[in-house]
Amino acid sequence: MTPASTVFETMDAVDGLPGTGDFEQVAFCHHRPTGLRAIVAIHSTVLGPALGGTRFWPYDTEAEALTDVCRLARGMTYKHAAAGLDQGGGKAVIWGDPRTVRTEGLMRAYGRFVHGLAGRYLTAEDVGTTQADMDLIRRETPHVTGVSPSLGGSGDPSPATAWGVLWAIRAAAEVRWGSPDLAGRHITVSGVGKVGRALVDHLIDEGATVTVADIRDDAVRAVHDDHPEARQRLHTVAPEEAHAVDCDVFAPCALGAVLDETTIAALRCEVVAGSANNQLATPDDDQRLVDRDILYVPDYVASAGGVINIAEEPAGYDRARAWARIEGIHDTVLAVLERSRRERIPPGEAADRHAEARIEAVGAVSLLRTGRP
Ligand code: NAD
Repeated sequence: MTPASTVFETMDAVDGLPGTGDFEQVAFCHHRPTGLRAIVAIHSTVLGPALGGTRFWPYDTEAEALTDVCRLARGMTYKHAAAGLDQGGGKAVIWGDPRTVRTEGLMRAYGRFVHGLAGRYLTAEDVGTTQADMDLIRRETPHVTGVSPSLGGSGDPSPATAWGVLWAIRAAAEVRWGSPDLAGRHITVSGVGKVGRALVDHLIDEGATVTVADIRDDAVRAVHDDHPEARQRLHTVAPEEAHAVDCDVFAPCALGAVLDETTIAALRCEVVAGSANNQLATPDDDQRLVDRDILYVPDYVASAGGVINIAEEPAGYDRARAWARIEGIHDTVLAVLERSRRERIPPGEAADRHAEARIEAVGAVSLLRTGRP
């Protein structure tokens, strides 16, 4: 990654790629008394307030932090648009090591910073931040989601994300094999953390055979302990071999960039659908999967359950309503895969076009409503 040299250049071209910018706003905050250094990137508010988590991370340089926050904010615009939400795309980073610089004062100063954006940006949990941090931010601003259920929030989004991945897999099964039924199917789940472990629960309930992998032995053990009733259907594989398991569905639920030229050549599944962010190492990997006749459910479509859940908060969180809405991922996957077939483009590109079409259509409606651009 070669970060652009100025803020405006980054806003115009994330990752140095022309045409990837078009950011509405990037805001910086330095609060000397607490040492807070934070950046909020608002990519688009066309569909609604920009929603996206706060990443707390010790970036090596300011330019790296800026590029990351912009790249992630843009991704949220697409994720929300494809999921049918009335939310725009944004993201924030707090620059520093959460293990050493996190204090009540710093998180509350950050809350004030978010409050100053007057609701154009709604924050949430992300890598390095916790629900407890969101609760502190809530004391300074209402523009925060994912606070504790006792404060009216929806809590940890991971179970909702897992529920959405299940429906994405069911939709892919429908397209591939003519039925969403997963009984008797073999699914490999790589990464059994918060999302993967909950996904395994659903797959076992569905009657599937499941192979799990994780770099943490205790995580794998916990999954086996959860399912003494399904010993015959639950297997383990080494993490570096997970993608090469002979199975029906490979579900990446750990880190990004797991699908590259080498791993795609080794896949022995017919469907890839999981929660991990940025699964494709490069845009070319979208077509590589098509060339191998493997059906790929674009990651941001499959993993939208968490944001759909969070987007239910402003109306007063109701789990049954949120869960029903998450099931809509099934229809979104069908629509994206149909576009992919019809337009003869790989699924990742089809998801982008699906999102862009909605932004354009709904953006035109808001022009009519307000009379302002
Ligand atoms: P997590 O940290 O709870 O779990 C990740 C698991 O993957 C851990 O158990 C870890 O040990 C394991 N892991 C790490 N490297 C691995 C490897 N090389 N092979 C196999 N396992 C490995 O994270 P999570 O919240 O479950 O999220 C999983 C993925 O889904 C991430 O990419 C995340 O960005 C994405 N995601 C999560 C949510 C959510 O609601 N939590 C929403 C959208 C997307």
